Amino acid sequence: MTEPVTTETVLEARGVTKHFPVRRTGRDLATRTRRTVHAVDDVSLELRRGTVTALVGESGSGKSTVARLLAQLHPLTSGEIRLHGAPAEAGRGRAFRAYVKQVQLILQDPFASLNPVHTVRYHLTRSLKIHGRGATEENLHALLERVQLTPPESYADKFPHELSGGQRQRVAIARALGADPQVLLADEPVSMLDVSIRLGVLNLLKDLKERLRLAVLYITHDIASARYFADTTLVMYAGRIVEGGDSETVTQRPAHPYTQLLIASAPDPDRVADPGAADEADGGEPPSLISPPPGCRFHPRCPRAMERCRTELPPRFDLAAGQWAACWLYAEEGTGPR
Ligand code: SF4
Repeated sequence: MTEPVTTETVLEARGVTKHFPVRRTGRDLATRTRRTVHAVDDVSLELRRGTVTALVGESGSGKSTVARLLAQLHPLTSGEIRLHGAPAEAGRGRAFRAYVKQVQLILQDPFASLNPVHTVRYHLTRSLKIHGRGATEENLHALLERVQLTPPESYADKFPHELSGGQRQRVAIARALGADPQVLLADEPVSMLDVSIRLGVLNLLKDLKERLRLAVLYITHDIASARYFADTTLVMYAGRIVEGGDSETVTQRPAHPYTQLLIASAPDPDRVADPGAADEADGGEPPSLISPPPGCRFHPRCPRAMERCRTELPPRFDLAAGQWAACWLYAEEGTGPR
């Protein structure tokens, strides 16, 4: 009998918010002002077993901060992270190690994340040891084979500088797998790699999701790759998630004007949505997160902004087939442009 495919939620963020205090200047001290960076506001998402969730946005949108909060590298300002349905407050020490054994973070720059004076063998056996798995030759070879660095003997004793960028990222992924995790948080895992090898690394992550039934968060600024790689896509703007749904729908029929702008700036010959409306959008710049605009944070750039957008924060409006958008255009069914 074949095992039923399950997509239970492994890791969940509920209303997660992170504000960083800004270092006070002389003027702040004189005026007794305390400023904060509203890096992430009220973010909720679920990472499900055997699926990839893409979190897409421009640089500075807060998407990498979300990955770090889910990795418990920063305390939350408010909200909650739940692992297997239970509140997860990793703290430090043993509780933190138990958490990272299940939730592993892969960083953008594989060269910076590997120690240049140590070999591949050192990095991988250390991971196996830390996470209580046998640091044996057999386990080392199995990790290298799992990331398609074969034959493993050819890679085990190499130093990071002897590997290509793609191979280094594969070693970083193998090190994460050394923990035997259930969640991979991949923060722009291919953005520093040559275009020609990005697809290979994305295919590897896709293979791991399917074979190991991992829950993967894929952080990217490239919405076109989300369509290819992710089951679900969430779009983040200025610290808030503004649209979500299955990747095909969000990338082919974007509902939020910001998603339409992102799609319009990422040419895709297969696109079926009319990009005309998005072409009207002012490219502009994301706002300062120290004093984000009131109301909808996208309103200064939005070609469809209405009066209420300048003062009232739009809630999430559910659309067809699980898609949703936080945009006043959808406040009354049938009044949106779709
Ligand atoms: Fe544009 Fe208003 Fe929708 Fe924001 S809420 S995206 S400003 S139409």
